[in-house]
Amino acid sequence: MNHKKRHHFKKLLLAELKRHAQYINDEQARALDIAGDDLQQSSDLAVRDVIQELALKLSEHESKIVADIDQALLRMEEGSYGMCVRCGHEIDERRLEAVPTARYDAACQTEIEAVKGSGAGPSL
Ligand SMILES: [Zn+2]
Repeated sequence: MNHKKRHHFKKLLLAELKRHAQYINDEQARALDIAGDDLQQSSDLAVRDVIQELALKLSEHESKIVADIDQALLRMEEGSYGMCVRCGHEIDERRLEAVPTARYDAACQTEIEAVKGSGAGPSL
């Protein structure tokens, strides 16, 4: 994934973060805007501070979403964003457009859900 693409998905993640974070204040929103416009890694620290503060104020469901976004941003810093954490294959970009926090490619996601599904069923 090139710089331009990464920047595009970073913006998607930050927009998603803002949408879920209703308690975000002006200062925090500004920090996210700056991070979204800036390709430099240095601004990521401020974003992570904002995320951690937010996580304390959100409901369980929302803080899980924010944590997923946090993880995706972390993978972006490490350079592993857009790759399946299970098999290492690149995740389809259309999939990332729909779910920018996606951790797995479609094949692994299907397998994981199949395993979960059979585990939840009645054991005879
Ligand atoms: Zn995979």
